[in-house]
Amino acid sequence: MLDILIKGGTVIDGTGGAPLEADVGVADGRIAIVVADVAQEAARTIDAQGLHLAPGFIDPHSHSDLTLLVDPRAQSKIRQGVTTEVIGNCGFSPAPLLGAAVDEVRARTDLLGLEMTWADFGGYVDRLRSPGAAVNVVPLVGHNTVRGAVLGYCDVQPDPAQMTAMQDLVGEAMAQGARGLSTGLFYPPGHYARTDEVVELARVAARYGGAYFSHIRSESDRGLAAVAEAIEIGQKAEIGVQIAHLKLAGYRNWSKIDGLVAMLDDTVRTGVRVGADQYPYHASSCWLAAMLPYWAQGGGAKAIAERLRDPGVRAQLRLDWKENRAEWENRRGVRAWSEVVISEFDARPEVLGRSIAEISEAEGKDPLDAAFDLIAASAGQVGAVW
Ligand SMILES: [Zn+2]
Repeated sequence: MLDILIKGGTVIDGTGGAPLEADVGVADGRIAIVVADVAQEAARTIDAQGLHLAPGFIDPHSHSDLTLLVDPRAQSKIRQGVTTEVIGNCGFSPAPLLGAAVDEVRARTDLLGLEMTWADFGGYVDRLRSPGAAVNVVPLVGHNTVRGAVLGYCDVQPDPAQMTAMQDLVGEAMAQGARGLSTGLFYPPGHYARTDEVVELARVAARYGGAYFSHIRSESDRGLAAVAEAIEIGQKAEIGVQIAHLKLAGYRNWSKIDGLVAMLDDTVRTGVRVGADQYPYHASSCWLAAMLPYWAQGGGAKAIAERLRDPGVRAQLRLDWKENRAEWENRRGVRAWSEVVISEFDARPEVLGRSIAEISEAEGKDPLDAAFDLIAASAGQVGAVW
């Protein structure tokens, strides 16, 4: 007897084949039979007439590292049909916790009311395993966390001993359950790393059979060069590359899409394993602090907030913005402040869902000041949709 029989649905099995009208039987927690008109009895029968059935979806790009600890039921994913998540993306993982990385992760755990009971990657994985999560989890170790742990969050290069320390941390994390290395070369402190540093760390992940997931260095004006860097890392480190949330941000960059696709196709033909994921809407989400030029993003969340309280810094930022210098491409090609909407800021729920344009008008401020005030007040923890 089956435990569950799902009757009359249209099965899309993920192999790329044609949709199939079939019943699906489940026994002992596994799919036992997929054929038309199953005759077996079942403890529970579900009528799926007019509905589609598919295997659980894999979300290759998620940041549920800490929220899975808050609510292991993962309802926001399960209800979309996602049953496997790759976490630790964009260079940010909740472990290993050492040095300056401790405070950066704590800023997030505090916000979520979580106690930071782990230190190394294995400790985090143990915490995830008990009580467990509703989704399967593929955790990555993040370069930003590793670099923050060894070098802090400023614009510095590692000496040989520091390079070894970072390699050791990546190796340890891989041995303790990480399935790959992620980088966020768009964000500090990962942004300060040269390509060779990432190659060296990716080699360690490759030794453990891991993959390399990259939030590339630029997703707008210098997007093609950034894709080329990710491919180069894959070639040199002999590791499979997954380019995260592939996009060409900024209206002026949209026309480069054919060149980008051709570049990826050519790479695949040379035998380098490169893939990409993409979200199905033309908006992106990030910390609002990512709109700042890199010189203003250094030192971690608290340093950013403090810096923005300095009128001299604001004057310089205003000048940079006006001149639209190349290093400020983080503004991501937005045309108007109505295109930047606040999505996360627990301390000020009244700003959620409102654009910088609306907030600045309501507060009688210039939009740049309204944005800087939000970043300063949230210690860098305010989220936005562009
Ligand atoms: Zn990212």
